[in-house]
Amino acid sequence: MSTTVTTTAHAPSAPLRARAEIDLAALRANVRALRALAPGAALMAVVKSDAYGHGAVPCARAAVQAGATWLGTATPEEGLALRAAGLPGRIMCWLWTPGGPWREAIEADLDVSVSGMWALREVTEAARAAGAPARVHLKADTGLGRNGCQPGGDWEELVDAALRAEAEGLLRVTGLWSHFACADEPGHPSIAAQLTRFREMVAHAEQRGVRPEVRHMANSPATLTLPESHFDLVRTGCAVYGISPSPELGVPADFGLRPVMTLSASLALVKHAPRGHGVSYGHHYVTPGETTLGLVPVGYADGIPRHASGTGPVLVGGKWRTVAGRVAMDQFVVDLGGDEPEIGSEAVLFGPGDRGEPTAEDWAQAAGTIGYEIVTRIGSRVPRVYVNGEQDG
Ligand SMILES: *Cc1c(COP(=O)(O)O)cnc(C)c1O
Repeated sequence: MSTTVTTTAHAPSAPLRARAEIDLAALRANVRALRALAPGAALMAVVKSDAYGHGAVPCARAAVQAGATWLGTATPEEGLALRAAGLPGRIMCWLWTPGGPWREAIEADLDVSVSGMWALREVTEAARAAGAPARVHLKADTGLGRNGCQPGGDWEELVDAALRAEAEGLLRVTGLWSHFACADEPGHPSIAAQLTRFREMVAHAEQRGVRPEVRHMANSPATLTLPESHFDLVRTGCAVYGISPSPELGVPADFGLRPVMTLSASLALVKHAPRGHGVSYGHHYVTPGETTLGLVPVGYADGIPRHASGTGPVLVGGKWRTVAGRVAMDQFVVDLGGDEPEIGSEAVLFGPGDRGEPTAEDWAQAAGTIGYEIVTRIGSRVPRVYVNGEQDG
């Protein structure tokens, strides 16, 4: 669990080595923007992996305040933790392995995903033991090639077995669902193919007698760009946190979204260095002239990608600087070009961008990854500082 510093309006004045400020007003506004983009569907805020590094419980609460009626997690443990924290409404978890906490999930009133016959057997056994029916979403593999059943035998068998268990009162099929492979690449031929297959698999299940509450398929990129994929429920993750699914689709502002996390650190040292001075492990950076160096006290243990050695951008004293040499476990250095900001002054690694700071997307480009990974990997040693937690905007 990450350290949590709760504030109502502004970051605490006590200087912190590093902090990830989480703007809950931005998160709420993102949820509202997404609801407006998918007016015919309910909204699930996906808060897996500690809400993509933003903090599961505060983000889930803010999403619910803004009208998310479902919460989604990968693991059942994540879903159970939300319920234990008092989160209301529907909570769905989808990444199960044999021997998982099915009974606890039923007793906590979670919706569970069943991706194959082994899972159906385990959930019906747990329902028998609990003396209460499970709420089950049947997962269709419409082309992603990951979890779920494919048509042509497995899906038909799963549907019929689920209907038998439903008739016995052991479960209720609340959802039929699937997941896209390439929704972030508009026009990719797999998108239309997966939609067609999903419609066929839903039609088969409904003809056999399944009456799902919700059919759902859309992740953030599909929610933003494919209205025909919205069905009854959209499952948005990155967009809730103001991260664009891919730079090709656009920047967050193009969709009315605002990044929620600002990562900053306090300069631990500013000092002069002569020309030709090697910097950080391996001396992959050598000062090109007499200069000043700033020590930024975060490193790969905090989730700063080591792949951003020599490339990651940081705003210091109003100017973009670049990681000089290697990112180490706990710290990296920037060449300040002779400037002498005060020790302790702020270095902003990324944020919404409107103070001129880099964004998570800039770090993604610097490290050869995606914005999702940049925010999700910020480590538990970095306190999350919640701002605008009250519903005032
Ligand atoms: C993570 C995940 C989502 C959310 O994806 P985003 O692209 O972040 O919106 C939706 N559905 C499933 C099954 C997921 O694993």
